[in-house]
Amino acid sequence: MQTNKNSSEIKKSPMMNKEEINYLKMCKKYPQIFIQAHRTSKQEGFEYFYSGVSNKNAKKKFLSRIWHVGDGLGVFGRLKRIWTMIGNFRKIMKGKKQCYSDLEVYYKNLEQAGKITQNTNSNLRNTYPNKELWKELSEYADKKWNVKLGFTKLPEQLIFKGKGVLFRYALVCIQEMEKEKIDQAPKKIAGVEVMRVYATLGFAVNDIAEWLRSRGVNCQSNHPLGGLVNTPPLAGKAGLGWIGRHGLLITPEFGPRHRIAPILIENKTFEYTDSTEHRWIEQWCKNCGKCQKECPTQAIYSEKQVSIENVAGISNTRTCINRDKCFPYFNETFGCSVCIKVCPFSKGITSYKRLKKVVKDK
Ligand code: SF4
Ligand code: SF4
Repeated sequence: MQTNKNSSEIKKSPMMNKEEINYLKMCKKYPQIFIQAHRTSKQEGFEYFYSGVSNKNAKKKFLSRIWHVGDGLGVFGRLKRIWTMIGNFRKIMKGKKQCYSDLEVYYKNLEQAGKITQNTNSNLRNTYPNKELWKELSEYADKKWNVKLGFTKLPEQLIFKGKGVLFRYALVCIQEMEKEKIDQAPKKIAGVEVMRVYATLGFAVNDIAEWLRSRGVNCQSNHPLGGLVNTPPLAGKAGLGWIGRHGLLITPEFGPRHRIAPILIENKTFEYTDSTEHRWIEQWCKNCGKCQKECPTQAIYSEKQVSIENVAGISNTRTCINRDKCFPYFNETFGCSVCIKVCPFSKGITSYKRLKKVVKDK
């Protein structure tokens, strides 16, 4: 059994619950079982934005932000909005907790045998690529949760610095945010929509993971808010879209108007959906720059701020966002979304097809 002397050195953030802290301890305790972030992984999850703030201060700030979510509304409107937001946050916290508490069966295996003994149903290995199961899964995710799926291998460079995951293959899940609400960004109504989708997608990935486990697939769901992996490039690798200048994944159906969360899977159970067919979006971004012009904090640049080199399947991934400028405003407004609103791809598939034609005809 492999243990690590540094198991107590966990970098905490006020956004973490005790289940997540316990997970990070397991990750440090079993470094040969958990797939650790690559030594070149540069980015941390955005929950660390608050890492220098005490729990008490974080709570105070949060309560003040919740109060202001109803600014501009009458008394009843304010109370209703606050109630909706509190409901969203309770669901987010519940979903985040479940992502980790669902792993207890694997922890038990690790503590007893030093490895995960609960292996994925061997029939699924013999019947790879399990096309029927993939079809059933895609229909389930779409009908019950309005979630689109991709499947790919997780590059270690996309695991956030200091973190790790239990399984190597990624089912990438995407859920749309309503256009009418996001179009009102940076008004608070857009932030309510962002939090609503964080909450529902969190429930969706936990439920889809449960669906998979009931069919003998070992897996680990991860919440879309404050996760373990950098999801936009992962979803790009899985062929679901490509990253725009604003650092968000642009998909043909919703543009950047969605949230992403992964489910990590033990074996290569399905065929990869990898593709670079949406890479032309980079070309469009070069001449567009709307998000850069409209960003209220000037957090978007023309040039890369961070790049991760040699990522399998997508070569280099880059971000033009200065997170120190973006995150305070993102937190303040519960999700800002100005860069999503102004992105021409947010209009949907017709816009995607039109812009593609313009780029290809050049
Ligand atoms: S979320 Fe808002 S602050 Fe952050 S990059 Fe987009 S527009 Fe700028
Ligand atoms: S607003 Fe323009 S530059 Fe920014 S991501 Fe969208 S298409 Fe690219």
